[in-house]
Amino acid sequence: MACGSTFSGTQPLTSCPNCGGLLDCVIPTNGVTRASLSVGASRRLMQSGVWKYRALLPAIPDDAVVTRFEGNTPIYFDDRIADYAGIASFGLKHEGENPTASFKDRGMTVGVSHAVSVGAQIVACASTGNTSASLASYAAAAKLAALVLIPEGKISSGKLSQTIAHGARVVQIEGDFDKALSLLRELTERYPVYLVNSVNPFRLEGQKTTVVEALDQLDWRVPDLIALPGGNLGNTSAFGKALIELTGAGLIDKTPQLVTVQAAGSAPFSAYYESGWEEYEPVHAETIATAIKIGNPASVPRAKRAIEFTSGFVPNVTDEEIMDAKAVIDRVGIGCEPASAATLAGVRKLRQQGMLSADATAIGILTGHVLKDGDATVKYHFEGDGPMANKPVSIPGTLADLERVLSDALHG
Ligand SMILES: *Cc1c(COP(=O)(O)O)cnc(C)c1O
Ligand SMILES: [Zn+2]
Repeated sequence: MACGSTFSGTQPLTSCPNCGGLLDCVIPTNGVTRASLSVGASRRLMQSGVWKYRALLPAIPDDAVVTRFEGNTPIYFDDRIADYAGIASFGLKHEGENPTASFKDRGMTVGVSHAVSVGAQIVACASTGNTSASLASYAAAAKLAALVLIPEGKISSGKLSQTIAHGARVVQIEGDFDKALSLLRELTERYPVYLVNSVNPFRLEGQKTTVVEALDQLDWRVPDLIALPGGNLGNTSAFGKALIELTGAGLIDKTPQLVTVQAAGSAPFSAYYESGWEEYEPVHAETIATAIKIGNPASVPRAKRAIEFTSGFVPNVTDEEIMDAKAVIDRVGIGCEPASAATLAGVRKLRQQGMLSADATAIGILTGHVLKDGDATVKYHFEGDGPMANKPVSIPGTLADLERVLSDALHG
């Protein structure tokens, strides 16, 4: 992206050999129409919510494609969500309903398929949890060895248990995610280890399909906003690239504004945006939303392109705002992990700041499932005193006690 060098897609490159910068897949989208998005997808691949958009993906041979039929996720509409945000409609596209329960599967199917197609022996990632769970699953499906670096004691037990169970070799690093990723990048420079972190341009190609599928589901009626949480900024980059390509091919006549929401304690990209793209400074990341606890995002230039192209916003929200918004999403029966709820909190904040009109329409991406981080949810409800806290009651085991609970439940 920085120096303009081009390389064949059949190489396992994750950074530019000439300048060290980010790589971007070039997908020819000339002549692609809404009707031809699936051209080239076999019957098997049509079952995947990623590969059914084969015309927008790298031309990886069918027999290398490793799919668990990811994607095909629903969009839920609920007036209580829109009311909380203060806008006309707010659909939640639930990427937590993927095979390993986060959006990471959409990128992983393309990344691991590319790894297979170039003959990789081992695939590796540094992770705050969901990337490792997804990689472990897809590597197992592909019969490939997987190596995962995680910050010790800082990922949720749900995500760790998936990763171990699917057979990845897990290495716990003293230090945070940023440390783990830089260490792994050193390793992959020296050894033939295929890196699937979101610096990998192929993974982002799969993540583009979240946007394509959402617009397809909406009959191409483009919402005003698409909101998502921002950590390493791979998803922001992928969404921007999807919108650039869809616009270029004439598939959409209006560009939705991307809203990338960061946690206040991990908000270097938000600060960069607020400085008018003048000053970028990595931070030491802190937030309850571990999936976006990243102080030095890998995809900043790509994500900037996405925000600029869509005239987007990059707000940041406190952990309290995240957990309150999560409680609202959970309470209406949908549910998500903490990072995902930043979408709703961020749009609500923009609306309160007068940046959005009351008749705006939005799609928010729920990036991970409610069961991904049960500890955070339990803590909020058991220990918190927020208005949404739903603390279980304990009673002695008599019918009279239970009757009192019944009467409380009925009357408020
Ligand atoms: C990975 C992840 C994110 C952050 O996505 P980036 O592409 O790193 O910005 C947000 N939420 C969840 C649940 C994730 O797993
Ligand atoms: Zn370069």
